[in-house]
Amino acid sequence: MSRRVLVVGGGTGGSIVANLLARRPDMEVTLVSREATHLYQPGLLYVPFGWVSPEQLVRPQRPLLHPRIRFLHDEVREIDPVRRVARLSAGELAADAVVLATGARLAPEEVPGMEDAHHFYSPEAAVRLRETLARLEGGHIVVGVAGVPYKCPPAPLEFALLLEWELRRTGRRSRTRITYVSPLPRAFPIESVADVVEPIMARRGIELVTFFNVERVDPARKTVSSLEGEEIPYDVLVLIPPHRGTAPVALDGIADRGGWIRTDRETLQVAGYDHVYAIGDATDLPVSKSGSAAHYQARTVAERIAAGNPGRDIRYTGKVMCFLETGERRATLLRFDYQHPPRPAPPNPVAFALKRLFNRVYWALVPTGRV
Ligand SMILES: Cc1cc2nc3c(=O)[nH]c(=O)nc-3n(C[C@H](O)[C@H](O)[C@H](O)COP(=O)(O)OP(=O)(O)OC[C@H]3O[C@@H](n4cnc5c(N)ncnc54)[C@H](O)[C@@H]3O)c2cc1C
Repeated sequence: MSRRVLVVGGGTGGSIVANLLARRPDMEVTLVSREATHLYQPGLLYVPFGWVSPEQLVRPQRPLLHPRIRFLHDEVREIDPVRRVARLSAGELAADAVVLATGARLAPEEVPGMEDAHHFYSPEAAVRLRETLARLEGGHIVVGVAGVPYKCPPAPLEFALLLEWELRRTGRRSRTRITYVSPLPRAFPIESVADVVEPIMARRGIELVTFFNVERVDPARKTVSSLEGEEIPYDVLVLIPPHRGTAPVALDGIADRGGWIRTDRETLQVAGYDHVYAIGDATDLPVSKSGSAAHYQARTVAERIAAGNPGRDIRYTGKVMCFLETGERRATLLRFDYQHPPRPAPPNPVAFALKRLFNRVYWALVPTGRV
């Protein structure tokens, strides 16, 4: 007898899990996404420098999906995890298993004055930043995050390092000062990575301000201040907005106060529900919110659903694998899981080439579930 699987969200995680399950003749897979397109978010890092355009990062969703998948371009307004019934704008949909892969949303409204800050976490914001950087002659650029957790922990740091390199290449570095603000005692959440990156920042004159938890931005005075009482003046502010979960779940207790879905760190079941799973940015899992984590989690969930028995011993180990690009045509690979922190090599041209290759092969290999 075939089983009905409902996947909510057509981003990295949702596309992979749907494609893996659709290969099996005993699965009837429906994927609901409120976008008709799929955005390759990692490419947004390059938009502010004019290295790619947002149009190059977007593809229609349908061709990325196995022909057996029923694709509904719609929004899931609510899910009842007990009955496994989803309410869409076009009516109700029942399933035997549900996978929530609804990602995160940006919440700039949580920080007063954020309208004066730039970021590159959406195509529109990345283009606005590109226009500002193109006009930039010099001044003080402050880069950081306005709250944790946020998607892709390396991205803001990569941006600061690429910015430093780009300003040097375009003859504007001597007229600019770059400051990186971090809410943590170091530049990166994981100590072994901070140990590699901080000497590079120091060598390249990127100032680091730690324990800076952003409280507000004052657009009139052009200052950003922290909960710790520090105030930093800026000419251009690049601040990743706070993130929140997007769970369309009806019952209390399924999502925490940030909207992140309470998810078992190994089985990926939504707390209390055997046949409801959550993956990717939408979860409260103690791993980085990254396409890579969503990718490995999607494989685990697809295997668990295919096995049919939620108690079977198929588990997510916390695996993440992503690159950190440092400019100067160098990058390092970060590989870790719940038990093993990353031990990154010094940034090198091989990892840089692999990162750029991955950006190119993403469409053919990743959302389709081929790797
Ligand atoms: C600038 C930047 C750089 C990054 N770099 C990297 C990197 O180098 N490596 C890496 O691994 N990761 C990187 N990431 C992170 C990565 O893109 C995300 O972690 C990944 O896309 C998460 O996948 P997801 O499936 O959980 O969510 P998403 O890909 O965000 O997909 C969520 C989908 O759900 C849909 N949706 C939401 N709510 C509903 C609803 N109620 N009904 C129907 N559909 C809904 C959304 O429209 C969206 O299509 C980067 C992100 C950014 C912004």
